[in-house]
Amino acid sequence: MKLLLVEDEKRMAQALAELLRLEKYEVDYCADGISGLDAVESNVYDIIILDVMLPGKNGFEIAKEARKRGIRTPILMLTAKSEIDDKVAGLDSGADDYLTKPFVTKELLARLRALGRRNINSADGTLSFGDIILDTGMSAVTCTATGQNIRLSEKEYRILEYLIANQGQILTREQLALKIWGFESNAEYNNVEVYMSFTRKKLAFIEAKTSIKAVRGIGYELRYDHV
Ligand code: CA
Repeated sequence: MKLLLVEDEKRMAQALAELLRLEKYEVDYCADGISGLDAVESNVYDIIILDVMLPGKNGFEIAKEARKRGIRTPILMLTAKSEIDDKVAGLDSGADDYLTKPFVTKELLARLRALGRRNINSADGTLSFGDIILDTGMSAVTCTATGQNIRLSEKEYRILEYLIANQGQILTREQLALKIWGFESNAEYNNVEVYMSFTRKKLAFIEAKTSIKAVRGIGYELRYDHV
């Protein structure tokens, strides 16, 4: 799970990043609001942790801006105890949860686990769009109209998961490469195309009317053609 931490207190940020990496989170870190917003807008994270008081742009402004741009990544806001109104402002700005500093590690990890599950849209552990359902436990995709299903490789699964979580938006090859492979280079963009084509074939195999459309020069989008 890919996590973005925006926190200007260096020591706190380093300790937190270290702890989260031990918990197997992949952590990127920004020390100010401007680079933080840039990173948020890359839209490659599963969870965002935002400190409120930051140089450049504060946490509320970042959250607001992100929501305005259609980024739906769960946001956990870190607020200082003295900033009592922060709780209300944080929820107003589009944050999903808040945690008051100083906090207990266990509490933070519990909140992150809860937010990580939020991308999954129902209690039975499935993600769905159009006529397809992704089974998060089985790594399979099922077409609800035909009843057919097929197993997915880890990468195919993550591609569909990412597309479903960002339905209605076009995801660029760069975002997909960063999100699924975690690196950035031209050679790797070919991987995105190769796996996109595998994933498309699987959707065609189960005769789903949901498909991955390439948007020329931009990226990919999930469509459901039910006519
Ligand atoms: Ca701060």
